Amino acid sequence: MEMLAAMQEGMMLESPLVTFLALYLIVAVRYLVFAGVFHLALWQRDPQKVRARKLTAQRPSKDLVRSEVRWSLLASLIYAFPGVLILEAWKTGGTGLYTDVNEYGWLYFFASILLYLFLHDTYFYWTHRLMHRPRLFRLLHKVHHESRQPTPWTAFSFHPYESIVGAFVIPALVFVIPLHVGALLFILTLMTLSSVINHCGFEILPDWWLRGFPGRSVITAAHHNLHHQRYACNYGLYFRFWDKLMGTDALETAYDFLTPSAVSRPVSETAGRSD
Ligand SMILES: [Zn+2]
Ligand SMILES: [Zn+2]
Repeated sequence: MEMLAAMQEGMMLESPLVTFLALYLIVAVRYLVFAGVFHLALWQRDPQKVRARKLTAQRPSKDLVRSEVRWSLLASLIYAFPGVLILEAWKTGGTGLYTDVNEYGWLYFFASILLYLFLHDTYFYWTHRLMHRPRLFRLLHKVHHESRQPTPWTAFSFHPYESIVGAFVIPALVFVIPLHVGALLFILTLMTLSSVINHCGFEILPDWWLRGFPGRSVITAAHHNLHHQRYACNYGLYFRFWDKLMGTDALETAYDFLTPSAVSRPVSETAGRSD
């Protein structure tokens, strides 16, 4: 807690431009490290040693990966901007951010994380569906879907317009719903990590997870991979709640590889069999 207070004090001395550059570095480096680790562990290793299930037979081209990294570094720039607004507002006490857990207690600490994830997921689901309307798709979302088979580097590969749509939701919530600074850092890091995992091209989670409650409720790489291949299903970000409720969930086919007959085939081959 003292560290957070010191961080707040330290940032008060900085100009918004320095804060912006520092935040950009944090966002971009965090993306590069997470994506780099998954790239090395899954795509660069001897396939015999990789225990995760590969979701595609083809290897994405180097040109595609280069373009994903370029778009992602541009998106990081946009993600850093609302961070500056929050920190500037925090200096004047104008946000719901707090540093002392005792102010609302531990139960609220964890409940607020779940609430933020659910609200972010809800916002993402509906804006994502809208972005699949033909005109909006061309303008905002086409770049992300250039990765027909996503890779860890696809995590932030968005057109700047789409990044803007996505960048302001958490910062806006911070003005309305109290959130501990540590919870905010956790949510932002989870956002990056889950995006890398869901685009990594491999299903890294074990069968017990996929078959059980977590797999039935939380989005995984196999689930999101199917969105990149079929477009009109699996729009969610973290949870399958909205997809299930709105009839856009296609998990049964995404997890087809869990049935013994499909075990040796990549998911992309088994997934297209039924809609
Ligand atoms: Zn995606
Ligand atoms: Zn999409």
